[in-house]
Amino acid sequence: MINYFKEIFAGLWTLLVGLKLTARYAVAPTVTCHYPYQTLPITPNFRGHTDLVIDPETASDKCIVCMMCENTCPSQCIEVIGEKPEGSKKKVLTAYRLDFTKCSLCGNCVEVCPTSALEYSGDYQLAGYSRHEFHFELLERLRGRVKAQGIVPRPKPAPPEGGAEAEAKPRKVRPKAEEAPAASLEPKGEEAPKAEAKPGE
Ligand code: SF4
Ligand code: SF4
Repeated sequence: MINYFKEIFAGLWTLLVGLKLTARYAVAPTVTCHYPYQTLPITPNFRGHTDLVIDPETASDKCIVCMMCENTCPSQCIEVIGEKPEGSKKKVLTAYRLDFTKCSLCGNCVEVCPTSALEYSGDYQLAGYSRHEFHFELLERLRGRVKAQGIVPRPKPAPPEGGAEAEAKPRKVRPKAEEAPAASLEPKGEEAPKAEAKPGE
């Protein structure tokens, strides 16, 4: 009989301990985030898929269609397409396709780009029903970002007075080879030729 009451008491005690813990954490400050309704700021070093950098002067891309990123990509997941507008000597980017299903985020394309036209996006909420949803057209994405952020082209600063000449820095002039002091052709003391031995000596 005593054991029966002991068990009831032990059960009630564990129930009270559990309720005490529940009550403590019910009023404690929240340390979690209500994802996906809330998101946390991510570190600037986060590597999402690559994206084209927006040039603030043109509100467009900085790509010069050199193809270095496409050629250096070990996963062959980049396709750069450009064309020369009429009367222009330089190509302009018309499409930049990235197959993110194959990208290993190695960063080669970002590092090799001579105009720093590529960066990592902070996009970590990638989900889809088909792999085709991860075939990105980065130029279209860039135009969407420009529109969403309301970026307008920033005019280039006016050149300083005096034109390009004022900007030019004085060049260092190297001394020519003929002006350099001629090396002495006289033999040094230790290197003087020995006197020839006379016959019979
Ligand atoms: S990060 Fe690497 S694998 Fe991904 S597109 Fe760039 S070069 Fe290719
Ligand atoms: S390396 Fe840079 S500039 Fe060259 S094609 Fe790629 S993104 Fe454009």
